[in-house]
Amino acid sequence: MKIICIGRNYSDHAREMSAAVPEEPVFFLKPDTALLSTNRPFFIPEFSQEVHYEAELVYRICKNGKYIPQRFAHHYVDAVALGIDFTARDIQSELKKKGLPWEKAKAFDGSAACGKFIPLSGNFVNNPILFELKKNGTLVQHASSEEMIFKIDYLISYVSMFITLRQGDYLYTGTPSGVGQVFVGDELQGFINGQLSLRIKIK
Ligand code: MG
Repeated sequence: MKIICIGRNYSDHAREMSAAVPEEPVFFLKPDTALLSTNRPFFIPEFSQEVHYEAELVYRICKNGKYIPQRFAHHYVDAVALGIDFTARDIQSELKKKGLPWEKAKAFDGSAACGKFIPLSGNFVNNPILFELKKNGTLVQHASSEEMIFKIDYLISYVSMFITLRQGDYLYTGTPSGVGQVFVGDELQGFINGQLSLRIKIK
């Protein structure tokens, strides 16, 4: 399986990163070794002094497809979870300055945490999905899928022009504002529509 991540998909997060709001989706990949499954601890890697959490809705692809028309996109997704796109922000800033690819900052082991999936059915595209992240019990991020610049059906259609989607792939759809650093001993809890989807201890 592969993990496809969308960058800068909420305008408030683009603003907090002093990045331009994109005219087309920005995406990058993480390998399957980045996956941190439900409720496993996250170990801060020794090569970074500043790892950030980015809470994101993660959609599970349930069918292979290429050049998927937007109006059929919902047939290719069967579940959603709360995930964390862990980012070595110090390394990412260096790479951005040099115009280099982001993999060292984004694709490391354990960098794609994913909570428990909640099934989706019918044409869910226009049903808002609310999500939030608490750090040590304090709300740090909250948003609705309606606030995405590019919605899930468009993302499926867009990404599948470039890359074949396969059953079992995960699509991370970008983070809203409120990202921040994690420290040893922190606990993250992610919720979808008020239901606990993910709980991670930082080690
Ligand atoms: Mg992200």
